[in-house]
Amino acid sequence: MVFKDIIGHQDTKNALVRSVQNNHVAHAQLFDGAPGGANYALAWAFATYLNCENRQADDACGQCASCTKMAKLVHPDVYHVFPTAISPKVKGNSSEVFMPLWRAFVGVSPYRTLSDWLVFIDADNKQGNISAEEARSVVKRLSLKAFEAEYKVMFVWLPELMNVTSANALLKILEEPPAKTLFLLVTNQSDKLLTTIISRTQRVAVRAFEDDEVAQYLQQKNVEEKLARQTAYLADGNLSAAYLTATEATDDRHEWFTGWMRDCYKPALPELVKRADGFDAQPKERQKAILDYTTRLFREVFLWQQDVRALVRLQDDQLKFVQNFAGAIKPSSVEGIVNEISQAHYHLERNARAKILFLDLSLTLARLMRS
Ligand SMILES: [Zn+2]
Repeated sequence: MVFKDIIGHQDTKNALVRSVQNNHVAHAQLFDGAPGGANYALAWAFATYLNCENRQADDACGQCASCTKMAKLVHPDVYHVFPTAISPKVKGNSSEVFMPLWRAFVGVSPYRTLSDWLVFIDADNKQGNISAEEARSVVKRLSLKAFEAEYKVMFVWLPELMNVTSANALLKILEEPPAKTLFLLVTNQSDKLLTTIISRTQRVAVRAFEDDEVAQYLQQKNVEEKLARQTAYLADGNLSAAYLTATEATDDRHEWFTGWMRDCYKPALPELVKRADGFDAQPKERQKAILDYTTRLFREVFLWQQDVRALVRLQDDQLKFVQNFAGAIKPSSVEGIVNEISQAHYHLERNARAKILFLDLSLTLARLMRS
């Protein structure tokens, strides 16, 4: 990870680069920002820059031995501490035994969240924490001299998940830091940290991503721009969520949906019967996804009709649908349609026969569209 891999945040990058160039690197820094933001990525790029053997004016070279090791998170002078939980994938619960999983996890994206991580490791429950034993072992390792780098670096991802004992072990070492050792704490909830830890660190405030940046990121991930725009609306500055939503949405749901709505609007009964068979043949998750999608688009129709157009941010073909239907159907009917779909969803979850349910729903929608 180098700075140029991270979209936006130019002011933060500049400040970090300047601190290295001016020899003013604070020994403990707290990258503070919301889940799904750039705080871990920035800390990672900063450590890469600091230990780069061929530093450029504004970024690490990305080529030298140190940069190569930093990119793979295999640098011997860099330690990683993060919350773990009991997992069927590894024996033990130290960050060290989880390290191969951690590399794979952040290798996909450095913007992933705690819940992404717990799912990734198949944690047996929804908690994760940093144990006292972990904190102690790191303190011991930090007392060793650096192997090859100028600085030893210790990353602590989500220090708010330390219990009191481990937090105190960390505090102790922050109070008496070994020379040329850098602590990079990456937090999502700085209000849960001991104030004594906060006062020992220099805070690097990391804002959430803006819509444009999320869209740009998705484009880089080869997701179409129009889809990216739609998804940015859902993402709320969280690239991890944005990416997941975008990949889920790349199926042909919209096409299926518009065909169905056309048949309801006409109404074309033989087509709807055929469609009910097609619906019945799909896996249940997909059936539910189609209904969710339908609800969502009709909500957008409703917003459009209420002149809350600023909130309607859809890709082009979705927008076309919303505009057409907003003009063709009465607002009271749109509300009825949303209710009917939500009821159908409810019954589908309770194992109603999909074919009958779908045909019934289609006929009700056809009636509401005409009323
Ligand atoms: Zn380098």
